[in-house]
Amino acid sequence: MDLSGYYFFIFMVCFIIFLFLVRFYGPKRKDFYVSEDTRIIPGRVKREVWRRDGGKCVKCGSRNRLEFDHIIPVSKGGSNTTRNIELLCEKCNREKSDNIG
Ligand SMILES: [Zn+2]
Repeated sequence: MDLSGYYFFIFMVCFIIFLFLVRFYGPKRKDFYVSEDTRIIPGRVKREVWRRDGGKCVKCGSRNRLEFDHIIPVSKGGSNTTRNIELLCEKCNREKSDNIG
């Protein structure tokens, strides 16, 4: 009686379940990708912010030199979510940066 194929099957099933559990209940995804530059805003988020803010600066309404700005800087724990990103023109963005120091 050869059970090696059977044991291999059980092993593979356990392995897949293990990967599944690690994927969903293990360390958060960002811990796996520490080297990833968190300042890069995903395209999906950019499109949503652009639509929400009407494609213009939320402070002065300018449509020139628009930039995606983190309301809470990434360095201070801010995330790449639509709630933490707003559209600012270059001028307003620089003024804000100056205020923060
Ligand atoms: Zn502006």
